[in-house]
Amino acid sequence: MNNWQPSQARSLTSQQTIAVLPSKVLVILAWLLVLGTGLGCTRQHVASPLGSRSYAQRLHHLEQADSLRNFSSGLRLSAAEEQANRRLVALRQQALAHYDSIHFFPPARNFYRGRHQLYASRLYHLLQTMPKGGVHHLHPGAGGSPWWMVQRAVREPNCYVFWQPDRGPYLKGELHFFRAGEVPPGFVAAQELQRTVPGFGAQLHALLTFDERMSHDSVDVWREFEKRFQRVGGFTGYQPVFEDMAVATFDSLVADGVQHVELRTGLSGSLYDLHHPAGSFPADSIIRYYQRAGQRVQARQPAFTFKLIYADLRFKTTEQIQRSLRTAFRLHRRYPSVVAAFDLVAHEDAGHPTRYFQEVWRVRDSLTAATGVQLPLCLHDGESTWQHVHNVYDAAVLGSNRIGHGFNLAFFPAAEDLVRKQNICIEVSPLSNQLLDYVGDLRLHPAHTWIRRGVQISISPDDPAIFDYVGVTPDYWSVFLAWELDLRDLKQLALNGINYSYLDAAEKQRALAAWQLDWQRFVARLNQST
Ligand SMILES: [Zn+2]
Repeated sequence: MNNWQPSQARSLTSQQTIAVLPSKVLVILAWLLVLGTGLGCTRQHVASPLGSRSYAQRLHHLEQADSLRNFSSGLRLSAAEEQANRRLVALRQQALAHYDSIHFFPPARNFYRGRHQLYASRLYHLLQTMPKGGVHHLHPGAGGSPWWMVQRAVREPNCYVFWQPDRGPYLKGELHFFRAGEVPPGFVAAQELQRTVPGFGAQLHALLTFDERMSHDSVDVWREFEKRFQRVGGFTGYQPVFEDMAVATFDSLVADGVQHVELRTGLSGSLYDLHHPAGSFPADSIIRYYQRAGQRVQARQPAFTFKLIYADLRFKTTEQIQRSLRTAFRLHRRYPSVVAAFDLVAHEDAGHPTRYFQEVWRVRDSLTAATGVQLPLCLHDGESTWQHVHNVYDAAVLGSNRIGHGFNLAFFPAAEDLVRKQNICIEVSPLSNQLLDYVGDLRLHPAHTWIRRGVQISISPDDPAIFDYVGVTPDYWSVFLAWELDLRDLKQLALNGINYSYLDAAEKQRALAAWQLDWQRFVARLNQST
């Protein structure tokens, strides 16, 4: 039947042709005619869409309807932006054609397999200069450059590294500061290791970061991830380097085009120094160090701003989290311009579900009722590929202003509707999601579908120091190509970084004014590029 052509049926209906044909052929012909007539009838009832005007119109309507649902459809580009967009899209198409020609599309592969392509691309260097508004999702112990940590460690006389195979509570590469004479067995001064171990810096760096050898089983990846936090904990918690590290983290983001940063941090007082054990530095001191770090960055970059989101671990008991919430509430009232919101973090599949802490959320309601002050929730929910991990329902119902990751939101369409209706912004960390094995090919990242359905998102790097990159441009580069974004989408992402931040109205206005100037310069640069 594949060769059946309507023209054959038409030509064979003539009496003259039938008269000269043998009877067997006539039987077949008669059968074919019946079938042909049947096909003809079908065609009369269902008009072929091909070639008709309605086909083109219907396609246009569908495309138009989808385009209107896009998360950036509310933005109108200026003539200069339109011109810049044409250049940017041409550059994107060139890049896609190149990856097609080498049969290797980096955002579809593991970051470590494709990152040399990323760093070598013109697009990467261009996107680095793009003013990105704000980063909403960053953990300060892993927010800066891993090399900064290694270089600082070997400069500090009291910094020691556990330099034996993992043993007892210690991991090889674990950093800690000790007074001479109090160094546990197995720890060696970083300065001595630097002198005596060839390639020590690179070896330590490898122990503090992920690389392509990382396991692809998500449970093991989390184990490895937590090991890296353990290795750096004694360094990031050392009070004498704390403020400098915050400055270095902020600087690395500013250099990457980020104007505003929101850090998730436990202000529970885990800092120590050589004379004071962990817990000796209260939250007020830690906030002061952050404030001073912010001022040091602002001295060079006046538009820079930051906020802290008080974050505790979802493994803890209700009583512990309740205490944390009360502390966060007190700090939010005392430092309203610094401590902005409350969150629970850590491996979501393994920790308590958000509704386990119902009593905590009740306490939050009563504290709000008693004081008239509201501590916003910014819940780290939905970082899972399981349907039974349904914390995004809780985040939406509890009125979380933003949701950290929200990765499995698509499993819960009613929650997704609520997210859209309540204008909740999802903090998307594409490379973190890939490297922690929630998704492989970034074209299939769920945020690709959210933005096509009008869900607002922002882009953050989560833990770049552990993932062995700096800033957030690698995330932008990956999704720009994987989701085939354009300048309007990038502008929406950058604006979302400010508009969905915890800056107050006046701060937002100032931030937007500063960002607008940078954006105009970026657009002009794009238009001047050849
Ligand atoms: Zn996170």
